[in-house]
Amino acid sequence: GLADRLQETFKKLRGHGKLTEADVNEAMREVRMALLEADVNFKVVKEFVAKVKERAIGQDVLETLTPAQVVIKIVNEELTALMGGTQSRIMIASKPPTVIMLVGLQGAGKTTSAGKLGLAMKKQGKRPLLVAADIYRPAAIKQLQVLGEQLNIPVFAMPEGTDVVTITEKAMEQANSHINDIVIIDTAGRLHINEELMQELKSIKQHVKPHEILLVVDAMTGQDAVNVAESFNADLGLDGVILTKLDGDARGGAALSVKAVTGCPIKFVGMGEKLEALEPFYPDRMASRILGMGDMLSLIEKAQSTFDADETKKMEKKFRKDEFTLDDFLAQMQQVRKLGSLDQILGMIPGMGNIKKKLGDVDLDLNGKEIKHIEAIIYSMTPKERRDVNIINGSRRKRIAVGSGTKVQEVNKLIKQFSEAKKMMKKMQGMTKGKGKQGLGG
Ligand code: GDP
Ligand code: MG
Repeated sequence: GLADRLQETFKKLRGHGKLTEADVNEAMREVRMALLEADVNFKVVKEFVAKVKERAIGQDVLETLTPAQVVIKIVNEELTALMGGTQSRIMIASKPPTVIMLVGLQGAGKTTSAGKLGLAMKKQGKRPLLVAADIYRPAAIKQLQVLGEQLNIPVFAMPEGTDVVTITEKAMEQANSHINDIVIIDTAGRLHINEELMQELKSIKQHVKPHEILLVVDAMTGQDAVNVAESFNADLGLDGVILTKLDGDARGGAALSVKAVTGCPIKFVGMGEKLEALEPFYPDRMASRILGMGDMLSLIEKAQSTFDADETKKMEKKFRKDEFTLDDFLAQMQQVRKLGSLDQILGMIPGMGNIKKKLGDVDLDLNGKEIKHIEAIIYSMTPKERRDVNIINGSRRKRIAVGSGTKVQEVNKLIKQFSEAKKMMKKMQGMTKGKGKQGLGG
């Protein structure tokens, strides 16, 4: 991820008091490249980089953060702002029904998103009605009907050949008489934007006056998605965007540019073909994802409030001198557990994915029960053994297993975990600055 690249860039710059222009320029080269690689609009990248530069140069590097973290924090905040800052919701009409019209090119995911949105609304206690207004392909009507049946949501459809205005008008009548408080209109797409399509959508808009016109676009199409959004917005006026197939696009370039280029916020993202796979769009989470750093900043904050600063300093020293023992391991683990599950924590640490891969079969998924076993095993060791795992030979392992009521394999696994953790933490030391200044680059 971008965060890893920034960490790399700043490796040699630890301990600076202020960020210099040269530091920042170096980092911005990485940011610019990463964004262009992610298929973000060139103009957006240019403006973005300028903005971050302006904020970053001359920034104090705080006691608790490395220069890389300072820049990452600014990049993160600006990325979030670029995507609209806060979550944009669907406006629920004060007088029901709320009418949501889905528009977009063929294959973008309109019909699927109609079903997903219906399900999400239903889960909120609403009574949605799905409207089949894609009149050109009988299969399209059938597709929505199948979804409706699956979800137990009513679908309004009329015989082939009925014009869209009649369909939507009748649908509104049914919604009113059946007390449906949400009406979701699934419209026809085309392979490309054309006048005929726009006219049809405009006529629906004029007649039913939807509260929300949402453009459904495929994230995988990258910059094309942004161009499509620009055209639809110019011709039809959009209230928001549903960005689909984000599960297939790790780069997320479209997500970054859409709001900046069109001014339309992304309201939902499609994260898979399953009908549950629709999520509200959170700019801050997307920014973290693009940075590839999970939720590192909140982890840093959390860790700082949870860990005793002196204790952490002591541990750091032990790592450096290679005096870290199983007793420390246990104490650390008990402290770390206060932060959440280990899996969660690992997800928040940048670069952890790679380290996890390297560990291969070492199981890092610690749950409460496993901690209890680890405790039992460590308590069954002699103080000497806890200080130096190298002396724990086969017969000692057997004795420890019996004493702790576990199996030899578990003892083996723990010792392996401990050794790996030691290696891993040494590595991580190079990434997180921690507290004491003498620990930097040392
Ligand atoms: P429409 O022509 O705009 O109505 O598009 P459809 O709803 O028929 O979807 C086209 C294809 O995209 C279908 O195969 C869907 O299953 C798939 N699809 C839709 N949304 C998503 C998504 O968020 N993720 C993935 N992986 N596939 C999706
Ligand atoms: Mg469709």
